[in-house]
Amino acid sequence: MRIILLGAPGAGKGTIAKMLTDYDRSVQISTGDILRGAVKAGTELGKKAQGYMERGELVPDSLIMDIMESRLQEPDCKKGFILDGFPRTIPQADALKKLLQKLNLKLDLVVNLDVPRPVILDRLTTRRTCSNSACQEIYNVKSKPPTAEGKCKKCGSPVVQRADETEEAITKRLETYNEKTAPLIQYYQQEGALKNVSSTSSDEIFTSIKAALKGK
Ligand SMILES: [Zn+2]
Repeated sequence: MRIILLGAPGAGKGTIAKMLTDYDRSVQISTGDILRGAVKAGTELGKKAQGYMERGELVPDSLIMDIMESRLQEPDCKKGFILDGFPRTIPQADALKKLLQKLNLKLDLVVNLDVPRPVILDRLTTRRTCSNSACQEIYNVKSKPPTAEGKCKKCGSPVVQRADETEEAITKRLETYNEKTAPLIQYYQQEGALKNVSSTSSDEIFTSIKAALKGK
């Protein structure tokens, strides 16, 4: 299957993408992953991307699309792909549409994970991460707490709240999402490819995506 997953930060895109790839052996593709992959592989495109990243600049859409084009043609994409957090803007969606036409690939579904804002805020502000960069185990003060001393159960390092997961930072990320990415919901609705899923249970979301795919 070929799917785009839309949803605010904290909507659970990563979890759902994992369930879908386990289900049918398609691959999960996120912009961050493919950029890091291209840099690591040392390809021409990767070297260009590295330049922008080292200067702390945004990687331009044209370069992201070039990297996406080569990524989508790798053999592991034959069984399908789940685009996780991409596209992020209308111009990226337009560019992706052209790219898929060029590669003669048809999207099966665009899924919008519609999770209420209070749920997202609660999910993200209660998250804690192991400060050991080699571990990075994720905790949750409510559902999966670290040790009583605030240490990682795996490696013993201090468990911290990430700077981008404070309430202030999350509110800002949600605003950016509403401004730049939420318009994509309407975009794909007009294309007739959108499936809106309002649930906070990943099992329920997975079930309704499978049902929507069967209806194709
Ligand atoms: Zn750890």
